[in-house]
Amino acid sequence: MELNERAELDTSQANDLGRGSGGSGGGMGIPIPGGGGRGGIIGIVVAVLVALLGGGFGLNAMTNGDEGGQAGGGDLEQVCSTANADRLDDARCRNLLFVNSIQDYWKKAYPELGRSDYEPTTTNFFQAAVNTGCGQADSGVGPFYCPADRKVYIDLSFYDELASRFGAKGEFAQPYVLAHEYGHHVQNLLGTNAKAGQGDQSGPRSASVRLELQADCYAGAWAKHATESKDKTGQEPLFTSITEADINEAVDAAEAIGDDSIQERSGGRVNPDQFTHGTSEQRKRWFNRGYDGGDPKTCDTFGTDQL
Ligand SMILES: [Zn+2]
Repeated sequence: MELNERAELDTSQANDLGRGSGGSGGGMGIPIPGGGGRGGIIGIVVAVLVALLGGGFGLNAMTNGDEGGQAGGGDLEQVCSTANADRLDDARCRNLLFVNSIQDYWKKAYPELGRSDYEPTTTNFFQAAVNTGCGQADSGVGPFYCPADRKVYIDLSFYDELASRFGAKGEFAQPYVLAHEYGHHVQNLLGTNAKAGQGDQSGPRSASVRLELQADCYAGAWAKHATESKDKTGQEPLFTSITEADINEAVDAAEAIGDDSIQERSGGRVNPDQFTHGTSEQRKRWFNRGYDGGDPKTCDTFGTDQL
C-alpha cells in the first residue's frame, strides 16, 4: 500500500481525544445512557455492535499509546495538514486517510443501496478509556461503533495487539478494521442493526453473526474500490497503490479474529453457541465476497441460509 503524499485530508472526519477522556474528571459531558430499565436494551446494542472482536475478551496487554511520538489530544487539522511533511508517519493521519477513503466510497455506494445520501461520521481516537453515547468503554473492548452517537472509537494501540497477539501484522489490517466499523455505521443508517437487535445475539446463525459478517463484506466492497477514492479536493487519489499482498493482509486479519480462533486461542473449546462474529472461515469468505464483487448488494447475510 502506498499513500498519496499530496492528498489533502478531511480532518473533520476524526478527532483525537487523547488520554483521560474516559475518566470521572474527563468532563466530556456525554450523557451515559442507562438506568430506568434501559440497561437491557443498551446491553444488547453494546453486545451486538460495540466490539470488532466481540465484547468481553480483555486485551489486557494494551500498550499505552506513547509509541511513535504521539502526544495524544493533538490538533489533527495541524498535524495532518500538507504543511507537515511527516504527517503520513503519524498513525493518526494514516488512519484519518483510511477513514476519508472509506467514507468517500460510501458517498457513492450508499445511494446504490436505494437510499438517499450517506451521512458521514467521525472516528474518535482515544487512549485507554473513553466516554461515549453508549457508555464508558476502555481499550480492552477493541475498536467499536456506537449506534447511539453514531461514532467510531479506536485506541490505535489496538493494532499492536492485533499484530502481536493475533498475528495480523500487515498494515492493511488497519483500514480493514475501520471499514468494518464503518460497515456498522452503514447498517445503522439503513436500520439493519435495529432489526438485528431483535434477533438472537449469539449462536452460529444469530442476527449478531449476520451483522458482523455483513460488516466484513462491506469492508471488502470498500477495499475493491479503495484506489478510486479521492481526497478532500476531489482531485487527488488517497491511495497510490494497493496490492494483492495488502488485500491478503486484510483477509488474514479477518481470519485471525474469527470466533472459533479466538476461543481456541484463549484455551477453551470451540463453542458455536457463543459465536457473535462468525468463524475465521466465514469472516474471510464474506470479506472476499465483498471484495470480489465490489458491490455491497451482494452482502445480504440476512437473506441466506449459507452463512
Ligand atoms: Zn463488528
